[in-house]
Amino acid sequence: MSFIAKRLAAVRPSQTKAMTAAAAVLKEKGVDVIALSQGEPDFDTPEAVQNAGIAAIRNGKTRYTPVAGVKPLRTVIREKLSRDNGLDYDVDQITVGCGAKQIVFNALFASLDPGDEVIIPAPCWVSYPDMVRLAGGEPVLVPCHEHFGFKLKPQDLEAVITPSTKWLILNSPNNPTGAVYSKTDLAALAEVLRKHSQVHVLADDIYEKLVYDVRFATMAEAAPDLIDRVLTVNGVSKSSAMTGWRLGYGAGPKDLIKAMNTIEGQTSSHTSSISQYAAIEAIAGDQSYIETFVSEFRKRRDFVVEKINEAEGLKCRTPDGAFYVFVNCEGVIGKFTPQGTIIADDLDFAMYLLEQFGVAVVAGSGFMASPFIRISYAASIEELQQACDRILAACEALS
Ligand code: PLP
Repeated sequence: MSFIAKRLAAVRPSQTKAMTAAAAVLKEKGVDVIALSQGEPDFDTPEAVQNAGIAAIRNGKTRYTPVAGVKPLRTVIREKLSRDNGLDYDVDQITVGCGAKQIVFNALFASLDPGDEVIIPAPCWVSYPDMVRLAGGEPVLVPCHEHFGFKLKPQDLEAVITPSTKWLILNSPNNPTGAVYSKTDLAALAEVLRKHSQVHVLADDIYEKLVYDVRFATMAEAAPDLIDRVLTVNGVSKSSAMTGWRLGYGAGPKDLIKAMNTIEGQTSSHTSSISQYAAIEAIAGDQSYIETFVSEFRKRRDFVVEKINEAEGLKCRTPDGAFYVFVNCEGVIGKFTPQGTIIADDLDFAMYLLEQFGVAVVAGSGFMASPFIRISYAASIEELQQACDRILAACEALS
């Protein structure tokens, strides 16, 4: 009998992390690998934010903090949600955790009982289904077709709601597709949700600031009457290049936030005090660096989309947000490598790119959608140029 708890049996390790680790192993062996599998900006944390972290250490802000986060941080989050999103939350409706990831997990763990269902539009971030299972719930994946911009349609939402539905998870801009829901898209989904008062919405807005030529909107803003059923999740990882600082936050109904704080209080206690003080600067300070991030990402996105669409058997849309291109690779499935092995699915294709051409990407199956690969363009234009050349050569070598 295994020593490991049964609840882990249904949980798969993240394919994103697995691919990044496989690329790192090859790199260590001296293989020239370009990793486009990572989910983090390749920029440094802005200097003013670094300095705020250093000042926190020097000023003795190195002790335990309240579980929900220090008040000055929750106050600037409150102001941010009001300024950027038009949302009105009290400070005690806000909680801070070790990344948006912990906030999502705490929310699910705080609310799911066995048999409770969570609707997850797919393609989706690798962690949602597994977090739902870990929390004892049932993920209900709803395919969102490329043809419709990978977005959930109101009628498809309506079709999967049951009395056991507890959450709808909406992630916009989306990882892995880069799809962005407009205020009108959200309002149409809200129409359905109004008929089903048991359903709450977890709005994962972590890529909010990374949008190209479209306006960001979040559910509580599009449907203010539903605000008591919405948890708005965000953080500094992607917008301020702070993935390693581990700081995310959630704003929502008081009883849910209180329950989430109970879980956090018995697990991590809180995220690092230093990160909390640095995040005050990231959220309330000058954010002009975001414009630079966005314009740099836009250049890279346009470059990758153009190149990939030249590859035989691959095609992709131009994503509106985040820093990923989700590439349809149907055209290479069933083909043979120069070694005579068949590319049976998108994981085979991702492994072929890694092992034969030294490019690490993540297979769509990791995001509950096949046959696709996700390319992260959070890499320099030189790396992207080389990687795209290799991908083109890899496709050409198939027969
Ligand atoms: N939500 C989505 C959709 C993500 O892609 C990620 C990270 O990849 C996260 C949440 C986690 O963010 P954080 O680093 O704040 O935990």
